[in-house]
Amino acid sequence: MNRPLRFSTIPELHWPPGSTVGLMGGGQLGRMMAMAAARMGYRTHVFTDQQHTPAGEVAAAVTVASFSDQAALERFANSVQVVTYEFENVPLAAAKIVAERVAVRPGPNVLAIAQDRLAEKNFLSKAALPVAPYRGIETPEELQLATEVGFPAVLKTRREGYDGKGQVRVKSAHDLAVAWERLGHVPVVLERWIDFACEVSVVIARSQDGEEAAYEPAENRHAGGILRTSIVPALISQATADAAVSAARTVVRELDCVGVLAVELFVLADGSVVVNEIAPRPHNSGHWTIDAAETSQFEQQVRVCCGLPPGSVARLHDAVMENMIGNDVDAWSRYLGDGSVRLHLYGKKISRPGRKMGHVTRLFPHGSSPRAFDEDRSV
Ligand code: ATP
Ligand code: MG
Repeated sequence: MNRPLRFSTIPELHWPPGSTVGLMGGGQLGRMMAMAAARMGYRTHVFTDQQHTPAGEVAAAVTVASFSDQAALERFANSVQVVTYEFENVPLAAAKIVAERVAVRPGPNVLAIAQDRLAEKNFLSKAALPVAPYRGIETPEELQLATEVGFPAVLKTRREGYDGKGQVRVKSAHDLAVAWERLGHVPVVLERWIDFACEVSVVIARSQDGEEAAYEPAENRHAGGILRTSIVPALISQATADAAVSAARTVVRELDCVGVLAVELFVLADGSVVVNEIAPRPHNSGHWTIDAAETSQFEQQVRVCCGLPPGSVARLHDAVMENMIGNDVDAWSRYLGDGSVRLHLYGKKISRPGRKMGHVTRLFPHGSSPRAFDEDRSV
């Protein structure tokens, strides 16, 4: 096997190009990370419990095994220099087995918080970050108490939610009881519905030396609980952008997070922000960085996980990223003739309603304001 390149001064936790990055999860975020890693001369070894994954198709090595297969996890850990993830629902026990053998970034402590909505809300509140009024519910008594959150509200399962799954909007105490029953009386969080002016997110990288690199906020539009569109620059004041970035910095510092992390926020009519949730990985709303920033969020993940400094987060273009969800992907060929559009397909063989199949990023000259195209975007 080739030997990794050597730096003249390699502190203990730096892994140069030629090293292998372990990636838990096989989805499109992993695919884009593996591609960024390959460009920089790194190998990626994907651990996934699914056959034929978007990430597995482009990685140098793949292990397909259950996240409860200890022997497979140990072999995986022994074959890589550092491990990261591309989804936060990697079972904690699996991450811990790996972390006993090799550096896992962000650490399992971050995963534990990000995969439990109640732990996440408690963490954010403790860090003095604004969150929607919320209450955890595990018993009928707690259900009663939770009504003080106020209505309308949204009931969310504590675990395993994504793309708006496991969420029910509720307008009254009666609704709440019905909704909890519908969710099977699993542990949940009731959260006040926020009447936001818009939604934004901040993707931030933090290195092992504590260096932080935050991209400017992207403005996000959802449909049916799924992200549809992200726009940069976001149409928000500088003060709001600063508040969003400052919240993201607080999150990574308080978590002592090494890696890439995204913070989703609501922007209120007065310009103040409320933190919605965090994701300890690159984020769909950061896909614009591949084509429109000096360093992509995926290169950033490779860099900081491997102990390299984060790259520049400067933006080169204004951009609108549009997800191709379900059958949207059938229109892929219409973008081939448009030089201002970057087409990204995830190689998924079967499209299902709500499934993210790819995305397109439309580039605009810096300062041209994609908003002029907002109403009549053809992406
Ligand atoms: P994703 O995986 O897309 O991040 P998720 O399943 O983790 O989604 P959330 O981010 O909690 O779920 O919610 C998805 C979307 O639903 C939010 O981006 C927002 O548009 C809406 N939403 C969720 N909670 C609230 C709330 N308390 N007030 C207003 N809107 C909300
Ligand atoms: Mg979300």
